[in-house]
Amino acid sequence: MALISGLADLHTHTTASDGLLPPAEVIRLAKEAGLTAVAVTDHDTVAGVAEAVLEGEKLGIVVVPGVEISTEAGGIDIHVLGYYTDNGNETWLERLAGQRNIRNRRNEMIVDRLKELGIDITMNDVAAAARSTAASKEGDQRKDASIGRPHIAEALIRKGAVADMKEAFDRYLASGAAAYVNPPRLHPAEAIRWIREAGGTSVIAHPGLYGNDELVEELLRSGAQGIEVYHSDHGEEEVKRYAALAERYGSIVTGGSDFHGVRGGKPFHGAVGSRTVDADTARKLYSAKGLSTS
Ligand code: AMP
Ligand code: ZN
Ligand code: FE
Ligand code: FE
Repeated sequence: MALISGLADLHTHTTASDGLLPPAEVIRLAKEAGLTAVAVTDHDTVAGVAEAVLEGEKLGIVVVPGVEISTEAGGIDIHVLGYYTDNGNETWLERLAGQRNIRNRRNEMIVDRLKELGIDITMNDVAAAARSTAASKEGDQRKDASIGRPHIAEALIRKGAVADMKEAFDRYLASGAAAYVNPPRLHPAEAIRWIREAGGTSVIAHPGLYGNDELVEELLRSGAQGIEVYHSDHGEEEVKRYAALAERYGSIVTGGSDFHGVRGGKPFHGAVGSRTVDADTARKLYSAKGLSTS
């Protein structure tokens, strides 16, 4: 891969998970924003990647295949980004499918908790909410799409149990809220290994959200190849701190908006292209794929 100039947004979601726009639409927004490269990083699925890559070829923008794996360590939700994995690898696809099963069981536990709290809601309502925000998607993408808390929130809004997404999370779904459950999940070090075994490059997503830099360093020591220094939820202080960590560990510095679409009139997390890194980072991620750092 030759040197790439311009800017890249290396973190976006589509209707393959809890984003509101189909993959092709996200790529179009990236092109409009003047980016040279954009990554699609849906939660626990690569179902949106193929459509995104096709659209990228059409529009002349580099599409980086990605994924964001939900893991847990010491009760904290840790997200691990994977880039350039071989998405024809059966073991990898089975592992992601297992993740989605765990996710579905977690969703059922949340729905049960909501029922105990007197809210009349079913998994069917959640599935319907997921389908509607993902309307007009192709079948294969729907099949491997992942369902998450934003879809439960949408179902709560439709029931009239809450006014909006913020209330749904504040009252019920956020960490520590009334219907929050977080059963034991994959450890981030395992996700890092999966990504390496699938021939990809692993990056610790939004480290500023964990409140545990010890753990972040431990993951950098145990094989994470990059760290997401630039993110919509990082302030200047976090950027400085994680840039220094990246320097210390020789990690790849990445960044992105974590775009999910527009909710309640404004882009959730950030608009496509609102957080970027040098597009050559895509080449670095490609060069590091499948390599071990530990
Ligand atoms: P899940 O992967 O199902 O646990 O859901 C996580 C997703 O929920 C995140 O990627 C966000 O899209 C969304 N989310 C998390 N916290 C909040 C919040 N406080 N307000 C709105 N959305 C949130
Ligand atoms: Zn999300
Ligand atoms: Fe995340
Ligand atoms: Fe994300």
